[in-house]
Amino acid sequence: MRLVVDLNRCQSYGQCVFAAPEVFRFRGEESLEYDHVPDETNREDVQRAVAACPVQAIRSDRVGEHAVAPARQGEGRS
Ligand code: SF4
Repeated sequence: MRLVVDLNRCQSYGQCVFAAPEVFRFRGEESLEYDHVPDETNREDVQRAVAACPVQAIRSDRVGEHAVAPARQGEGRS
């Protein structure tokens, strides 16, 4: 899992720090630091952080994988 935070968009609300404290942290008052390649064991926390960010600044290449719509069953039935 790779993680990118758009620091131009980030407003230092800190929701990600609460959601995934092992991945996100503040250095000083407003400088956000984060693990660019967090451990897979933190995936659920990262998903919560992505969902919690009020400005959608956090992107992960694996987060949301489970949200892909399931294959439609019954499609093409006659
Ligand atoms: S929740 Fe979003 S805006 Fe807030 S610190 Fe984290 S990345 Fe920045």
